Amino acid sequence: MKIAIYPGSFDPITNGHLDILERAITLFDKVVITIARNSSKNPLFTEEERLQLIREAVKKHKQVEVDSFEGLLVDYARKKNATAVVRGLRAISDFEYEMQMALMNRKLNPDVQTVFLMPNERYTYLNSSIVREISRLGGDVNDFVPKVVKQALDKKFKVK
Ligand code: ADP
Repeated sequence: MKIAIYPGSFDPITNGHLDILERAITLFDKVVITIARNSSKNPLFTEEERLQLIREAVKKHKQVEVDSFEGLLVDYARKKNATAVVRGLRAISDFEYEMQMALMNRKLNPDVQTVFLMPNERYTYLNSSIVREISRLGGDVNDFVPKVVKQALDKKFKVK
């Protein structure tokens, strides 16, 4: 059984994240989408809220597990019997940081491979912080996030 980890802050999960996840499940038997607990300093959504939104957004995919973790990603991957870490690459701007992380993770655990997937072009300019900002300012994020996330954002920002 080939297992991959898809880590991130998912604050909140967007259609870009889902695009990557859906590509990953065509390559692996199981994908664990997991919130890295300490990576986002001041999240808009609590960990429990983010988990709930992810669960709702991925519920049709039986081969996806939703989780969160603290500590080193490579230790977590080992615990989950995963052989790969999935990351999304949107643009060159992602590359430097992602390469640094991938090489450092390989140094820490040579048995875990980092796999980069590219989303549909329409998601290349999308990230969670832009979604939070647009939503906070009252803009329309319907094209960027699952319905359940849109509702949660509206609630956070008290839109009727
Ligand atoms: P963000 O960069 O939006 O704060 P995360 O830390 O939650 O996102 O990102 C987790 C992973 O998902 C990273 O590998 C990131 O590159 C990827 N990702 C985030 N948004 C997108 C997107 N729109 N398209 C493709 N990959 C994405």
